[in-house]
Amino acid sequence: MQYSCEIHNFASQRQEMNIENNVFEESQLVQAWYLTNKRELPWRDTTDPYRIWISEIILQQTRVAQGLDYYLRFIERFPDIRSLANAPLEDVLKLWQGLGYYSRARNLHETAQDLLKRFNGVFPSAYEDIRSLKGVGEYTAAAIASFAWNKPFAVVDGNVLRVLGRLFAIETSVDSAKGKHEYRYLATRLMPPEQAGVHNQALMEFGALQCTPRNPCCQTCPLVNRCVGYASGNPLRFPVKQHKTKITNRYFNYFFVVCGTDTYLHQRNDNDIWKGLFEFPLIETDKPYDLARLKQTAAFKKLFQGTGQSVFSIIEKVYRHVLSHQIVHAKCYMVDIQKENAGLKHFVRIPRKAIDIYPVSKLIMNIISKIEEG
Ligand code: SF4
Repeated sequence: MQYSCEIHNFASQRQEMNIENNVFEESQLVQAWYLTNKRELPWRDTTDPYRIWISEIILQQTRVAQGLDYYLRFIERFPDIRSLANAPLEDVLKLWQGLGYYSRARNLHETAQDLLKRFNGVFPSAYEDIRSLKGVGEYTAAAIASFAWNKPFAVVDGNVLRVLGRLFAIETSVDSAKGKHEYRYLATRLMPPEQAGVHNQALMEFGALQCTPRNPCCQTCPLVNRCVGYASGNPLRFPVKQHKTKITNRYFNYFFVVCGTDTYLHQRNDNDIWKGLFEFPLIETDKPYDLARLKQTAAFKKLFQGTGQSVFSIIEKVYRHVLSHQIVHAKCYMVDIQKENAGLKHFVRIPRKAIDIYPVSKLIMNIISKIEEG
C-alpha cells in the first residue's frame, strides 16, 4: 500500500514514545482543548453553508481579528446568495476594500450568480458540487461540507499542516507532491468520521492559538507527551518546506492629477494584481526612477504633454506594499494641470470629493488618506 512506509514511521514514532496506537486519541484531546479555549466567532454558531463559505473565503490569507469586521459587514449587506448575486460587482469590491486578494471577491460574486443559475439559489451539499464552484478549492469544500453537514472531509489548511508536521515530525516537505499526499492521508486518518465538523474546527483553532508558527505553547499543550517534534527538541523545524517563494519587486509611480475640482482614475482590468479596482494614473518602471528621469519617459510625456502641468509635491515618498509574491514600491506625485490632453482622456474624470465611492487597493487608500490629511 502506498502509505505503508509512513504508517510504519508513525507507529514506530508512537512506539518510541510509548503512545498507544489509537488513531482518534489526538482528536479527542484537541476537541477537549477546543471546548475550553475556542474563540466565540459568528461563523461557528451556524450550519448555514452560505455564511460558512463567506467566512472561509474572507479568512483565507487574513487574520481573524481583521476578517471579523469584514464578515459582519458582508453578511449584513449580502445576507444570502440572491442578494450577493444581484449586487453590482463594484459594490462587492467596495465592501472588500482593504482586505486584499481581490480575486476572492470577484469569485464570490461570480459564484453566487452560478449558484443561482445551476442550483436555484440553494447551496449544494454534495462535495463534488461544492468543489465545482469557482474559487472553492479542496480546503474550502472540505470546510463547508464538514461544518455545515458534518461530512467526513478533512480540512487541511496551514494551521492543520503545522500541527501534523510537528506532532509526527514529518520530514517530507509539505510543498512536495509526496508531502501533500502524506499530510492529507494523515489528516483523514486522524479524523473521527462522525465528528468531522468539530474535529476540523478544533484542529484549525488549535493550530491558530496553541501550536502557533513562531511561539507554540508546548508547556501547556495537551499533546506534548505525544509530540515527536517537541521530543526532537526543535518543533519549529516543522513543517519542512522545500521551496522559497520567488518575490518580484515592482516600482509604481502614481499621479494624483488636480484639474480644477476634478481628478482622474483608472480601472485595472488586466490579469494582474488589483483587477477591477481603481487607481490614479500610473507609470510602472523596472527600477526606481526619480522625477527628473520619469519626466524623460514616453509614458510621462503621453500623460502630461500639453496640459501645462507642474508637479508641485510628492505625496508619498516610497511606500512598500508587500503582497504574497510581489513587493510594490510606490511613489505618488500631486500634479496640477491647466487643461486635459488626449492622454488623460482614457481615464475616468471624477470630482475629487467623489473619490471615496470607488473601490481601491489598500495602497491607494493610504495615499488618499494622506491627500485628505492635507
Ligand atoms: S507540543 Fe508544541 S509543537 Fe507539539 S503540538 Fe503541542 S504546541 Fe505544537
